[in-house]
Amino acid sequence: MPELPKDAIQKAYIVRGGLPRKVLPDLAWVGGCSNSAGWPGRANTTPVTHEPCMAYVILGQKTLMLDTGHYGLWYSLEGQLDAMLQGRPLDYVFLSHPEIPHTGNLGRLLAKYPGCKAIGDVRDYHLFHPEVALDRLVMAKHGDRLDLGDREVVFLDAIWKDLSGTMWTWDAKLKMLFTVDLFGYIHHRDENVCGTMLHEMSPELATAVSDRPALPFTGMRQRDQKARVAAFRNLLQSYPPEIITSGHSGPIMGPILQPTIEKLLHAVATSGPDFLQSSGAAPRRAG
Ligand SMILES: [Zn+2]
Ligand SMILES: [Zn+2]
Repeated sequence: MPELPKDAIQKAYIVRGGLPRKVLPDLAWVGGCSNSAGWPGRANTTPVTHEPCMAYVILGQKTLMLDTGHYGLWYSLEGQLDAMLQGRPLDYVFLSHPEIPHTGNLGRLLAKYPGCKAIGDVRDYHLFHPEVALDRLVMAKHGDRLDLGDREVVFLDAIWKDLSGTMWTWDAKLKMLFTVDLFGYIHHRDENVCGTMLHEMSPELATAVSDRPALPFTGMRQRDQKARVAAFRNLLQSYPPEIITSGHSGPIMGPILQPTIEKLLHAVATSGPDFLQSSGAAPRRAG
């Protein structure tokens, strides 16, 4: 299948706001945004919104990338990884679930880093990637741990899933939960927050952005979510986070973390969060 012209891809998948960023000495934030006005025929649709499509690299004694980054962002992502890894190899890549924004670069990453192994619920990936040696696809189940030398990373069944087999991760050193499609937020182009974390925004802007969760989970509106919220609270008891990262936002940390958790859980448990809608368009689904 022919690829779209480069300029079309780079209008739809953009990198702004100083990305990539070394958020902490051992945590790199990479990726970009999906631009609603970048699609053919949608240049005049308002408001212009961005859906962040992010991934992270844990720079431990071994390196682990959390999701592969969006397939459409590879033109920038490869250089972002070079800048963040500074000559180090990528030892592992975690695969949360087989959707293009999350694991679409798997083949490219395994080609770029010949020693890299992919870990997650990998039951189907050999069908998408027959070129990949089977011993480079490592099955993880809930509670399994990966030793990065200076820390362990724990693989967890996701509480909310948009595909079966979706997993989250816990970094025991950073106390960081990677919640994949939970805690993603849509922003407006004019807010200029592509590479900005919630605690770096003005309180008003952080409130506005965190009022627009990007939640793709099937059935979320149709089913009572109280049991899921209780399950998530239980998970937080076992893995109390100081940082939450999502595939559709920047890292959430500092004093704003707890209020952000409570705000989202309240919305999920009561009315269900509102999806942001562009004019005349169907309700947005996060990818
Ligand atoms: Zn953006
Ligand atoms: Zn997603």
